Parts: sequence; C-alpha cells; structure tokens
Amino acid sequence: FPVDSIRNFSIIAHVDHGKSTLADRILEFTGAIKKDADNKQVLDKLQVERERGITVKAQTASVTYEYKGQTYLLNLIDTPGHVDFSYEVSRSLAACDGVILLVDANEGVQAQTVANFYLAFTNELSILPVLNKIDLKNADPEAVKDQLLTLFEIDPDEVLMISAKKGIGIEKVITSVIERIPCPAEKCNPDAPLRALLFDSWFDKYKGAVCLILVVDGTLRKGDFVTSVHTGKSYEIRDLGILTPQERSIPQLFAGQVGYFTANIRSAKEAQVGDTFHQKGIPCEPLEGFREAKPMVFAGMYPMDQSEHPALRAAIDRLTLNDSSVSINIESSAALGQGWRLGFLGLLHMDVFNQRLEQEHGAQVVVTTPSVPYKVRIHGEKALREYGEEEPTITNPIQWPDPQIIVETSEPMVMGTIITPDSYLGAIISLCQDRRGIQHNLRNLDQNRIIVQYKLPLNEIVVDFYDHLKSVSSGYATFDYEDIGFEPSSLVKLDILLNGIMIEELSTIVHSSRARTVGKRICEKLSNTLPKHLFQIAVQAAVRGKVLARTNIKPVRKDVLAKCYGGDISRKMKLLKRQAEGKKRMKMYGNIEVPREAFINILKR
Ligand code: GDP
Ligand code: MG
Repeated sequence: FPVDSIRNFSIIAHVDHGKSTLADRILEFTGAIKKDADNKQVLDKLQVERERGITVKAQTASVTYEYKGQTYLLNLIDTPGHVDFSYEVSRSLAACDGVILLVDANEGVQAQTVANFYLAFTNELSILPVLNKIDLKNADPEAVKDQLLTLFEIDPDEVLMISAKKGIGIEKVITSVIERIPCPAEKCNPDAPLRALLFDSWFDKYKGAVCLILVVDGTLRKGDFVTSVHTGKSYEIRDLGILTPQERSIPQLFAGQVGYFTANIRSAKEAQVGDTFHQKGIPCEPLEGFREAKPMVFAGMYPMDQSEHPALRAAIDRLTLNDSSVSINIESSAALGQGWRLGFLGLLHMDVFNQRLEQEHGAQVVVTTPSVPYKVRIHGEKALREYGEEEPTITNPIQWPDPQIIVETSEPMVMGTIITPDSYLGAIISLCQDRRGIQHNLRNLDQNRIIVQYKLPLNEIVVDFYDHLKSVSSGYATFDYEDIGFEPSSLVKLDILLNGIMIEELSTIVHSSRARTVGKRICEKLSNTLPKHLFQIAVQAAVRGKVLARTNIKPVRKDVLAKCYGGDISRKMKLLKRQAEGKKRMKMYGNIEVPREAFINILKR
C-alpha cells in the first residue's frame, strides 16, 4: 500500500454514543466481518467490556475499501469513552491523522464530547463530525449541529448524519474518511531507516507481548532485528501483521501502516507504550512520547492468602502489560502481609482492573481504601532522612508524616466540566459546594442546557461524585475533568479503631473541616458492614488520638448449628463448610473479623 492510500483514524465520542456500533458497521460494510445480527460491539473482546457494555481497551482493525478505482487501507482504532480511560484515547490518537467525532443526535454534546474534541484539536487531527442515532424519534440533529457550531465552530454543512444501529449513512462515513482525513505522508518517510512507534501492547500466554505499532519511517520485516530506544534491548521479529480484527500475518509493514509484531518479549517493562523501535545497529531519534499517564487513585492490593502471592504477582504483571497506565510499588501491611500499592487513573479503572484480575486470571484480592496522592512539606533532619525529600508525595495514608514535622500539605485539584439540563442546576451546584467546589464558569449551551465548570479537590470526586451527580440529575448530567495540579490545603489523617486497635488499612486523609462528618459516616458504614461478633465492638474515628465519632456493634451468638436440630450430619457439615468459606473472605484484626468488602466500600456515601 502506497502511503497516500492509507488512513489512520479513530472514533471518539461520549460513552454510549455509538462508537463500538459504528465500528461494527464499518467492519461489515468493508467485508472484514460477515453481516450478522449478532455483531454487537465486536471489538469489545474483554469479559468486563461485554458485561458492563463499555469499552476499556482501545482496539484496532485494518480494513480495505475500493473507492474511485483505488484500494484504500483504513486503520480504525476504537476507543473507550469513559473519563477514566482518556489515557487510552490519547494513546490511540498518537497513531492517527484524524478522528470521527461521534455525537448522539438525541443526547447532544456531552462532557466527554467536549474533552475528546479538545484532545483531537490540540493534537492537530482532522475532525469529521458525525451525528448518530438519527433513527430515534426524539433525535434533533439541527439542534445538535447548533451546539457543535457554538462550542467548536463546526460548520453545520460538514456534519454527517447516520444511524449506526440501522446501518444508515455508513458508506458516506467511509468515503468521507478517505476524502477528509489526510494520509500519514506528512509524518512518514518510507525511504528513511526504520522508526516505529509502540502505541499499545497486550500479553499473550504463548507469544509474549504483542506490540501494536505505527511504522513511521522505513519498513519492518519478519526476521528483522529491532532495538528498543527505551531499554536498549534487541529482539528478532517472530511474527508481524495486521488486525482484521483477527491477527493476520503479513511479511512486512511499510511506513504509514499500523500493525502488530511479536518478538518473544517476556516482561511488561520491555514493551512500554510510547517507546520507539529502530533496526539494530541503526539508531534513530526517539519519536515524541505521549503524555505520561498520571495515576490518581492509589490502593493496596493483597492476596487473600499469602500462599497465593506468586500467582497474584504473575497476574498483576500480565495485566499491567495490557494496561501500562497502572503504576506498581511493593507494599506490606501487618494484617494483610506482602502486597502492592497500585496507582490507577480513577475508581472505575480500579474496579475494572480488579474484575479483570478475578475473571481473566482467577486471582482473589483484598483491596484497601483508595487514596489520591498528597504532597506534604516537612522539616527536620530526621524527617528528610526518612522521606528522602522535603516534599514527598504520599500515596498511602500509613506513610502520612507525624503532624509535628508537617509544614504544609497540598492536594490534587481538577477542573470539572458538567453539562446538564437547566432544571437540575440548583441540585448540581449544591452537590459541588458540598464537595468543596468553587464555581469557575457557567454558560448556556442552548435554550435549556447549561455547561458549568467547577474547581474541585480530586479526593472529593474520586469515590462517588459521579454516582451522586447522576442521581441528582435523573441521569442527565455528564461530567469530565482534567487535572490542574496541587494546591495547599489543610489536611489531616483520620484513623479508625476497632476496640482500641488501629486498623491502619482503613486510615484516610481528609480536609480538616470534614474530619468529623467523614469519621461519623465511616463509623456508621462499618457498623453496617462488619459481621456481628460474640462480643461488643467499639468503632471509633480519631484525628491525632482525639476521638471524633463512635458507634457500637452489639454482640450476637453466632452458632450456626443451633438452627440445625436433629441429627442430620451432612447438613451440619455443609453449614460448617459454608462458614469456613465465609471466613476465607475475612481478615483478622486481633479477634475481630473484617470482610474484604469493608476496605473498598468504606468511603462511599
Ligand atoms: P459506545 O459506548 O460509544 O461504544 O457505544 P455503543 O456502540 O456500545 O452503543 C451504545 C448503545 O447505543 C447500544 O445499546 C447501541 O445499540 C445503541 N446505538 C448505537 N448506535 C445507535 C443508533 O444509530 N440508533 C439507536 N437507536 N441506537 C444506537
Ligand atoms: Mg464502546
């Protein structure tokens, strides 16, 4: 394929606006997959994606299409739309020259439409605006075109109208991609020595890392020896090809093409997204890396049982190869043993990661209370020796310095964008105020919809802000945010005690003005989640040893066999077995059992 017959593009949109469905239709229309009523979100391969109906991993498919006597190679990259996964989106965009900006003609522009538009715009990509779901009775394409004009200065005449579900307007989308999105010629040189950009990778049990690349310069052939700029290591290309969307081997990939290669790469660290590969012995300038993924939610992960430690480590290793935005550090805890501190882009990201650990790798994990990163300026020689710097970043409340040596504390802030029908504005404003938000900007998007921006502390939104926003707006408001750095803030560590024993894994960092409220909430939550014991349990929340809230859990006689009168032995055995299984899901603190759900649920309101 000559460079001018290649189009590398992505579909970006707010979640549920129809990206995956449009991808299905494009694959069908170009003959990559058979027309079949069962083709639903074909590129969503992961079990979590099918269960939750969201796209987590960006997936690539190469298709060919005849147009005006020429055969075109179209490389389509499907992307996730959820705010937590915008990192996947920006990675995919690095390999593209243009995007289809898909907007639901019924729902109109939403928060992630805005975020995705600016991502594409600042990357100088061509933008092909497309309205989807025009088959819906309530679709109002003219109003949505107005929104696109108001917000992004998009000419209404350039907007395509389709129904991905019904297959209306698909051909025009494909021909517009060919005509309006540029070929990669400008950034590619077929005659220069090889330079390839690694923009995604995943792990295959047999082949090792499968690397998705854009060949920027030169040609990559089977049997070539390539070197990673990042690690300096060299590999022999075992297999290479394109995704149709199945892997299909071909002998070579030319400049401008998107494809995969395997080279027996066995470790996660050797296939880092953003890396550049060149021919062994012919070094090159590394390609511009991407925006680094910045983990924003940290949590400890521990095996249910220490004997499962090696298996869990292997599972985490394999999964992070699929998802390089997760950061990993070793951590240990008196109660939970050896584990890891993992950093995620957001809470959904963390949930999805856990679900994948369990579903794809059969791992059972305990996850501790999530925390955002904080910066703490400290003074004193000893403090410096202990933390190694004057302003360490604390990602685990256990490491919070002694209040006596703290000079100043800072927390991460975000700029949140909310789009909502105006009737919910009042409720949304009070929600944001309740979360320590400061209004930044408010304007009308059209006659009855509002776009409002709030500066918010990240720790107020990571856990359940989104759920609350949805519930106060009957599901209509949408939300996206961007990181705007750290700001000084009065923060304290809130400790939780059970019968006087401090449960380090349940400590959290809170704003000093909220310590009492949050403490009360956690105590109540714990008295509802902890199982009753044979003795009374006092649950206390304290800051610097001062108790701010307290609840009691009344004792109960928990003799499961008492229910079992008569002498049915097998029934007794069954009950005992069930109780033993229940115990496995518990962690012991002294003589108190804490179920693993307690760690993750505790911060939810
Ligand atoms: P994504 O999150 O952007 O990938 O969206 P999906 O492709 O998963 O689609 C979300 C939902 O919208 C699914 O239930 C689709 O069946 C539905 N959908 C997609 N396109 C259309 C369309 O053109 N018309 C209608 N009525 N529904 C659509
Ligand atoms: Mg999708």
